[in-house]
Amino acid sequence: MKTTRKRLITLLVLLFITYTSCNQDDSIFEPDAIDNTDTNTVDEGNVDEGNNNESSDEGEITLYRINGDHLEKIKDYNVSGNDLKLQKDTKKHQEIWALVKKIIPLSHRNRINEFVLYNGEKGESAGFVVQSSEDLSTWKMGIAIDYAYEGGFNANGELAYTIIHEFGHVLTLDKTQVDSSITENDCGTFFTGEGCSKEASFINQSYQKFWKDIWDEFATAGEDQTKQEAFYTKYSSRFVTNYASTNPGEDSAEVFAVFVTSKNKPTGNAIADQKINLMYTYSDLVSLRDYIRGHLSSNAKQSQSKSSRNFLPEPASWKQASSYGKANKLHCSH
Ligand SMILES: [Zn+2]
Repeated sequence: MKTTRKRLITLLVLLFITYTSCNQDDSIFEPDAIDNTDTNTVDEGNVDEGNNNESSDEGEITLYRINGDHLEKIKDYNVSGNDLKLQKDTKKHQEIWALVKKIIPLSHRNRINEFVLYNGEKGESAGFVVQSSEDLSTWKMGIAIDYAYEGGFNANGELAYTIIHEFGHVLTLDKTQVDSSITENDCGTFFTGEGCSKEASFINQSYQKFWKDIWDEFATAGEDQTKQEAFYTKYSSRFVTNYASTNPGEDSAEVFAVFVTSKNKPTGNAIADQKINLMYTYSDLVSLRDYIRGHLSSNAKQSQSKSSRNFLPEPASWKQASSYGKANKLHCSH
């Protein structure tokens, strides 16, 4: 009996671990996504504010709650060396936050309730977003503070591009776009991993028009780097960057970033152009494009001057543009 019980407990523990890590893989939409095996997003929303000693396994430095225009510190992680220096340099935290505010209007910022600064070298990404509520109404955003200052603050507009890309995820995956209460079996549209996309959502329309016919080939490529590359090479005219070919989630975020940062509407007829033109049919996304461009481009000419480094980046101007992410991070559901 004892052995049976032990086995049962082991099985339950294994099942729990599988479920948790699966969930994490599902919810992280970032390049080279952080292997968040023990970062439970649900738990992090309920962090005890008095606990300042939690060590950081994924490079987390400081976690904030977002309150309108302001950041309220939830906690500092237990870090040392350069991370500690970055933790104490709250001027940098505020400088990054000021750029986030410039890009994301208050009306949309309320969909993001937590903000974490982390070490990108350790987390292996420049930024990420992850749902912080079951119904996808709120999200947590992470920005790699070391990368944000690589070559100077927002050098080449890379930080701005990263923020726009992450915002693109929230816009294409949140509650207004995806119904988390519908399981994959009951989903007749594109299943994002978080839930079932709404019929008219960009991600579903883009999937139906531009992904469905090559889905089997995409799925076969999996996360094999050589096969991912071959898949991209074969269908490069469908994608705005290599990274966009990672999966429909990354594709939507990259299309949004290129849609925002490109001056003109595409005139070509390649599928990559058609995706951007599809985005032009969503009036709320067009308004956001105008908002972001208006807020960033006024400083574009003086981009070299230190005081005005909040400028409009070039399309696809970030590290990840030419790399591939984790195609199978939706593996639990696809
Ligand atoms: Zn992404």
